[in-house]
Amino acid sequence: GSTSPDSHVDVLIVGAGPAGMMANMHLSELGISHRIIDHRGTRTLNGRADGFHVPTVEIWDSFGIYDRIEKYSERFGQWGLWTFGEDAAAGIYRQHLGSIPGHENLRLPKIGTMHQGMIEAGLGDGVRARGGPVVERGTKPVELTIDESLVNDPTNYPIIMKVHHVLKSELPDAWTGAHSVQEDGTLKPEKGFVEAFGTDPHEIENHVDGTEGTTETIHAKYVIGVDGAHSWVRRQLPDLKMEGENSDQVFGVVDIQPITNFPDIRRTCSLLSHAGFLLLIPRENGLVRLYVQFPEGYKTSDVKDRNNEKATVSDILKAANEILYPYTIGYKYCDWWTIYRVGQRVCNKASHLDRIFLAGDATHAHSPKGGQGMNVSQQDTYNLTWKLAGVLRNQLSPSVLKTYDQERLPIARNLIELDNDMAKVLLARANRDEAEVQRVYKRLSKFSGPISTYKSNLVIGEDGKGARQDAATGLPIGLRFPDTATVYSQADGDPTSTLSLLKSNGLWRVLVFAGHLADKAQLAKVDAMGERLKALQQRYPPASARREDFLEILLFHSSPISAVEFSDFHHTFFPVHETLGRNYFTIYGDSGGVKEADKTTGSHGVYGIGEKKGALIVVRPDQVTAWVGELDDVDQMEEWFASFMIAKDEAKRRDSGREGGTKI
Ligand code: FAD
Repeated sequence: GSTSPDSHVDVLIVGAGPAGMMANMHLSELGISHRIIDHRGTRTLNGRADGFHVPTVEIWDSFGIYDRIEKYSERFGQWGLWTFGEDAAAGIYRQHLGSIPGHENLRLPKIGTMHQGMIEAGLGDGVRARGGPVVERGTKPVELTIDESLVNDPTNYPIIMKVHHVLKSELPDAWTGAHSVQEDGTLKPEKGFVEAFGTDPHEIENHVDGTEGTTETIHAKYVIGVDGAHSWVRRQLPDLKMEGENSDQVFGVVDIQPITNFPDIRRTCSLLSHAGFLLLIPRENGLVRLYVQFPEGYKTSDVKDRNNEKATVSDILKAANEILYPYTIGYKYCDWWTIYRVGQRVCNKASHLDRIFLAGDATHAHSPKGGQGMNVSQQDTYNLTWKLAGVLRNQLSPSVLKTYDQERLPIARNLIELDNDMAKVLLARANRDEAEVQRVYKRLSKFSGPISTYKSNLVIGEDGKGARQDAATGLPIGLRFPDTATVYSQADGDPTSTLSLLKSNGLWRVLVFAGHLADKAQLAKVDAMGERLKALQQRYPPASARREDFLEILLFHSSPISAVEFSDFHHTFFPVHETLGRNYFTIYGDSGGVKEADKTTGSHGVYGIGEKKGALIVVRPDQVTAWVGELDDVDQMEEWFASFMIAKDEAKRRDSGREGGTKI
């Protein structure tokens, strides 16, 4: 084929699965020049991952895309645990019915299921709303080189990626496995569900963007390889290897509209019988997903993949019926199915020269038991993208990029350990212990709750070294900000969750927990901080082209909102923006009325903050608590910011020093 002219881009994303689309949305929000390519001709049309968990939902919500996903997804209701006794002929019985352990006290029911394609579509909506790029379909990378002499200056384009726009005739069938069962038992191929959204032809009809049959050379500053378990990008980088084992776990998966007498068919169930292990997950559109783990000793040669003409979905249904005995299950409509062998592996590192980064399935493989794949994958790129943007905007020191591996690889390893733990407990053949099952689900819920405890690094402060954890015992440094306190807007008295104020728009935040401001001396002390904080806010380059500042300052006090007025505050806490006008939503109280605050729901009580000493909390652009101190610790906080941020003057100097320099 012919060759098009070379082009330049700051970030090239390879792969448009959930991890790639999260990167696309975040970079679009941050106004970074980027492109995204995918070798397939459509988004995922059905099947594959389907479970989403609390942190993912909170992240979607911070981009404003959760409402639609919530509307069309299936929420987790009750949970059933089924097992078997000595008498195999009697089949399975219900051991426990209840809510999923560890999820009892969530503010909102935030765990649910929906198939991966609709999640990709939801993320695509978020990209469109921000004017970001569409996925260039039918485009695959064919050659990757990196000029190591150029990697030290972040403005260089050291990566050269050749990509090929395939011929439409070469695109794999957007085959989905959807079918119906006819009267005579034969299977008739069907189109999958016509979905509630994400039906843009660009997403669901096989096509090639770019000129078919041509090759293009792209010069990029950074590459994000999110091209799935068989990552092409990873295979180009000899220093990156998957470590761990390809386990013996073989899973059959079906999405069906079930016809059954099993009583818990609309509950999430974990079932163990003499015949094997089954995970049942209620889904959108009246579907249920069955994960059948074939018994130990099931040989690879027995696994019929669907390219094998002998392959049949009835193998999975047969196994499911054996496990469900004395109940039976069948269907007329099947939306998707597959059979696959699970590996438990993690990449030894996820970056190459701090220029090429891998994320998602390209760096970790595990079983579907915890339903975490799609979640952790999106959280990977959510973590990476604001760091890349900060470096590209000359706001963050390039060494911040090292914290991507430091933070995400332990999460991946932890996930694989959890997977092993779950396998041991859920598959314990004899005497499965209910308490143990509850324990592993609680452990799983840590992944579902405010997870990702990052150890101290360049962008996570350290207790005792400038930061002081005891100033806010309920806000652990390195943990996602917990969605547990209710505060009331000073402007209109509306209750709101603290977390919901932390939108994903690249802004860092200093949360000033001011204590009891009905006490005039305390109010004067907090007001006196206004000038210092204003100067800090103006010290570093802004979060994106849409923002004036890098930092948003939010103030929380423990008094009833009626005890103070806006006019009592320094203008730093009640700012007027040049372009946005006055922002009325920066001050919140722990009590919305005239009564004293309820300590069990208000922010100071919940986050363990003293009403005199107060607290300064720094939250990163990815909703992670990064630094904790008292109101008196402004010096230490400023020093901490200075350890990894580039002040405006210095940023300007670096920029002008480069003019006419090494840019290609
Ligand atoms: P992916 O979703 O795999 O996305 C990778 C993207 O990169 C794809 O769009 C792909 O087309 C593209 N790509 C790949 N190679 C190239 C290339 N060379 N050039 C350009 N683009 C490329 N998880 C579960 O929880 N439950 C399941 O039942 C389940 N079943 C699965 C079944 C299959 C067949 C597969 C492949 C995965 C399954 N997963 C399942 C895993 C789940 O899909 C992933 O954990 C999750 O989607 C990770 O997101 P990702 O963006 O990292 O990778």
